Amino acid sequence: MNWIDSLKNIAQHGKPGKCPKCGGDNTDYACHVISPEKRNGYMDVWCNDCKRAYHISRMEVTDNMKKGICPKNLIY
Ligand SMILES: [Zn+2]
Repeated sequence: MNWIDSLKNIAQHGKPGKCPKCGGDNTDYACHVISPEKRNGYMDVWCNDCKRAYHISRMEVTDNMKKGICPKNLIY
């Protein structure tokens, strides 16, 4: 498992799945759209247990993806 698997899980199931760092289930993600006309934005995926996180700087944010802000105390 790595964070790329988390991205695949979000695309397929809408959830990141297990944390690639600690194996916990308490993961979450949030997208932020920069240019809505191009659906261009970024995403943060993180684990609430170990606070590890992964930032994806450029990606297509689709309508069914969760938008929001991520916690501040994450370790990238
Ligand atoms: Zn974790």
